[in-house]
Amino acid sequence: MTTQVAIIPVTSLQQNCTLIWDDETKQGAVVDPGGDVPRILAAIERSGATVRDIFITHGHLDHAGGAAELAGALGVPVTGPDISDKFLLESMEEQGRQFGFMAGNCTPDRWVSEGKAVTMGGVEFEVRHCPGHTPGHVVFISQTLNFGIFGDVLFRNSIGRTDLGDYGNYEQLIESIRTKLLVLPDEFSFVCGHGQGSTIGAEKRSNPFL
Ligand SMILES: [Zn+2]
Repeated sequence: MTTQVAIIPVTSLQQNCTLIWDDETKQGAVVDPGGDVPRILAAIERSGATVRDIFITHGHLDHAGGAAELAGALGVPVTGPDISDKFLLESMEEQGRQFGFMAGNCTPDRWVSEGKAVTMGGVEFEVRHCPGHTPGHVVFISQTLNFGIFGDVLFRNSIGRTDLGDYGNYEQLIESIRTKLLVLPDEFSFVCGHGQGSTIGAEKRSNPFL
């Protein structure tokens, strides 16, 4: 397998922006460019990849705040999460003022929904809609690589917050995790929105929220 993955922690919230690319064709994608765009551009430069697409797991500032700027710098389209996060992507500047950092509103060129297939670095990823942390949160799953990008749904020994805004929904989040993520193989590994990654098996064994 020639797929390469680099994690670039961005913003004061240390959100894990992911750069994924094929080492042979050099085609790549960026997921969740929340900010610190110069740092993301430097990582792309180091990798030698040509980024074709930007993807967003959900409409929170630390995941999407740099998407418009990065899209402008690279001249590539932005693929949003499920359209039910549109209200968050349209309030990025407002969220930025609350958290004290610069962010641009983001109008994705297209949206995704449950079951849709997208391509990152030449590899097909399936979209699973996992609401609860936000209404439109999606995760990206590659059965070929046994690898996924989960945003703020499931963390190592934790789960996404559901106390943000009036849209967080704890029951819905647990249902998303049980029906969309825990059905994956134990050895399936994933990048979390913050902190270290994990595997489905490890979370089944030790996650106190599940
Ligand atoms: Zn979030």
